[in-house]
Amino acid sequence: MTSAEIRQSFFDFFAQRGHTIVPSAPLLPSSPGLLFTNAGMNQFVPIFLGEAEPRVSQWAGARPARDTRAADTQKCIRAGGKHNDLEDVGFDTYHHTFFEMLGNWSFGDYFKADSLRWGWELLTQVWGIPAKRLFATIYAPDKAQGDPADFDQEAYDIWAEIFKNAGLDPALHIVHGGKKDNFWMMGETGPCGPCSELHFNLLPDDDEAAGRALVNRDSPRCIEIWNHVFIQFNANADGSFAPLAAKHVDTGMGFERVAGLYATTRGFTDFTAEPSNYAADLFAPLFAEIAARSGKHYAGTVPARRDHLSEQEQIDVAFRVLADHARCLTCAIADGIMPGNEGRNYVIRRILRRGILYGAKLGLKTGFFEKLVAPVVASLGPVFKEVAEQEKIICRIIRSEEESFGRTLERGLTLFNRAAGNAEAQAAPHAESAHAKKLSGEAAFELYDTYGFPLDMTQLLATERGLSVDTQKFEALMEQQRERARAAQKKEIVVAATEGSETGTANAAALTPTRFVGYTQLDAS
Ligand code: ATP
Ligand code: MG
Ligand code: MG
Ligand code: MG
Repeated sequence: MTSAEIRQSFFDFFAQRGHTIVPSAPLLPSSPGLLFTNAGMNQFVPIFLGEAEPRVSQWAGARPARDTRAADTQKCIRAGGKHNDLEDVGFDTYHHTFFEMLGNWSFGDYFKADSLRWGWELLTQVWGIPAKRLFATIYAPDKAQGDPADFDQEAYDIWAEIFKNAGLDPALHIVHGGKKDNFWMMGETGPCGPCSELHFNLLPDDDEAAGRALVNRDSPRCIEIWNHVFIQFNANADGSFAPLAAKHVDTGMGFERVAGLYATTRGFTDFTAEPSNYAADLFAPLFAEIAARSGKHYAGTVPARRDHLSEQEQIDVAFRVLADHARCLTCAIADGIMPGNEGRNYVIRRILRRGILYGAKLGLKTGFFEKLVAPVVASLGPVFKEVAEQEKIICRIIRSEEESFGRTLERGLTLFNRAAGNAEAQAAPHAESAHAKKLSGEAAFELYDTYGFPLDMTQLLATERGLSVDTQKFEALMEQQRERARAAQKKEIVVAATEGSETGTANAAALTPTRFVGYTQLDAS
């Protein structure tokens, strides 16, 4: 199967079971508390809160036969806020900044038995994942830690039956987890419930006991693929949990994980190769473009550490980072999240600058990043039409960002290398760990202020050389700068007020939230 066929088979499977396939919500979230849309359930939160009718037709247009079942692929970004996987991108092969989350939902309709049995059927019968390679986690509260609610006996019993029917030992294949991994809460109060996740054993010899020991241990040889969340309680302010009248199912599966694993394992049959999402055909045109432009070869190595990487490891990390960041930037801008100086816009700018830095490591000249938009559009345009529609604008925005950062990158790197050399030379000869060596806060601040290096980018460069950054000093210098800015602004307001300008009105207008409606209404020359 191609990745597109895998995605389609997910839709078909759930459509056959009464689900309406709804469009992905934009990456720009509707909820003010979120930096980016980071899960399939975001757009359905009003239903879980009881603020919207549990009707799929609100999202899908025409009223379907069953108005309580939905499925989709949701564009997600996890690069800030509660979910931030940015630091892992490139260094592992299964966390992206941008990814698609496949999901199915029941709004007060079916519950645990159907969701888990269907999930199992899709994975093992439709896609052919060997049953003995799967582990299911269930909620088992650690009362000593103050975990809420009770052991999820219902999910346990369903899984026990499923594993027994497959000729497998439930005691070996069901793994208990506490609040951190197996209980979902939206906040301190509100709808919540236990979840049950499927993990995939990728050890070459499928040793069940060894695979089980790796569940939720951040191992590339046993990774989480599908989370089934059962929203069945309301968390009250006094710490108690009341059962909800209408119970909901909310699931999320990593599409690139499934597609990548399908590719590396030759259709889930051969587990000798290193698992990687980047083996999916989704990334192939991107890797081809990067290889053609850089003359470098991707070998798929994964570094065991963050500093002193071998030359090939550096190349492979760079390929993965570039491919990931190109998808993230393209899709973010398509949804109206521009690179900028604040909040989510600054996150996007930081990601782009990281991409430009990694390109420079491969010897790519300013202007290359924009060339990665076309391969992203080729693979995602057919699924997310806004990505194809906005291609020209996306290129234009990336080009202008590249031009401005390209002007300072090289000089910034020269400054960084000098400062890093000083840090290495000045470090106490008996320093216990490499991280006792610190790049000065002054250098980090100058890199930020004069050369546009985001702090996390400087930290990344420092880590590669076994250094840390004096962030305390950096923050102090930032605060001083903010003080200066505030003082300057005050002066400006006084001047404006005396001149009779309507500063107040202008500011209020600037603060009014605007909804992104596409570029057609903007000046898109
Ligand atoms: P992990 O423990 O691997 O970080 P998670 O528990 O944070 O995953 P969930 O919030 O449960 O992930 O999201 C549902 C599914 O989305 C996961 O089971 C996984 O397959 C996928 N997923 C989560 N984060 C990423 C990511 N950064 N890149 C790609 N897929 C992801
Ligand atoms: Mg995670
Ligand atoms: Mg997890
Ligand atoms: Mg999870």
